[in-house]
Amino acid sequence: MIPISKVDVRDSEELVLEVLRSGSLAQGPMVARLESEFASAIGVRHCIAVNNGTTALVAALSLFDLDEKDEVITSPFTFVASLNAVLEAGGSVRFADINEDDFCIDADSVASRLNRRTKVVMPVHLYGQCADMQKLGQLSELAGVHIVEDAAQAHGATFRGNAAGTFGVGCFSLYATKNLTSGEGGLITTNNADYAERLRILRNQGMKERYKYEMIGHNYRLTDIHAAIAVPQISRMNEIADKRAENAAKLTRGLSAVPGLRLPRQFEERRHVWHQYTIVLTSQSPVQRDEFIAKMAEAGVSCGAYYPKLAFDYDCFRKDKRVKIEDVPVAKRISQNCVSLPVHQYLAAEELQHIIDTATSLLS
Ligand SMILES: *Cc1c(COP(=O)(O)O)cnc(C)c1O
Repeated sequence: MIPISKVDVRDSEELVLEVLRSGSLAQGPMVARLESEFASAIGVRHCIAVNNGTTALVAALSLFDLDEKDEVITSPFTFVASLNAVLEAGGSVRFADINEDDFCIDADSVASRLNRRTKVVMPVHLYGQCADMQKLGQLSELAGVHIVEDAAQAHGATFRGNAAGTFGVGCFSLYATKNLTSGEGGLITTNNADYAERLRILRNQGMKERYKYEMIGHNYRLTDIHAAIAVPQISRMNEIADKRAENAAKLTRGLSAVPGLRLPRQFEERRHVWHQYTIVLTSQSPVQRDEFIAKMAEAGVSCGAYYPKLAFDYDCFRKDKRVKIEDVPVAKRISQNCVSLPVHQYLAAEELQHIIDTATSLLS
């Protein structure tokens, strides 16, 4: 079976052993090293490591003291963590529709949702490609609202040369299937020294110096063991993204003549790091999404539907007053028809060909 994602962190063994042998397992020098190496890799002043991508979002949103009257505008076409994090941070959520070309929130739709309660715009750089940060940046500045980026899937992605995580407060995940991983972990990035300091205090029980509590805090700390898993991958980040881009280009070449299919678009001014390679089946397609995924699996190709339903489309959110649901026709259609094919850096040429051949025969 060709897996949709594959983890190989054998090059971390030495550093992990070093931490284990040191006897200091909790947040310490290895976390600091991870933070400084990631910050320089993407070109941001401050990086604060936390225990997962969801808490990265919660902590980042907490900077803006949200209460139920405050709204965060985000994408409905995302992992549920984006939504859960806003509610956990105390705010309400309003959903903008997405753009069919990049799967991220559409600036015009965001503009139509902005109101006096909006405090944060939270784009999700889905599948490893940045949202249109030019338009979203301008819009947010005009409206005087903050930007929190859900960059959980976008380590190393750029927009006009600037990295995801540098347009607002950036939140990355180091979960096992992400392009950069520590098993579980998260990173927050910012160029604002005041935010960075508050985040460091917040993640450690609100404590600046031992037993001096400055705010109501939490334990969001990452361990040195986890940091040691991720550190060696930072020097390979570009190589990993390049290999994925090469695989994506092969898939696109191989599938370009297949009818009934929308292939993922890569924009000139954006560096796509291909966390996922996602195609959209159109009404011309002879098979529906779920059948396509099942048939691909029969042929030994594991595909995914990220995400099969919109984040709010569950009873627990539909009945919550803090979740403001509006019409999002593009997001809805794409969630029903999207399929992610394997694109990871460990795919062999024959495996890519098998994916292309199987998809082609199912769709012709
Ligand atoms: C993975 C992911 C998260 C959450 O990260 P965890 O590390 O799993 O908590 C948030 N948003 C998106 C878009 C993700 O893909």
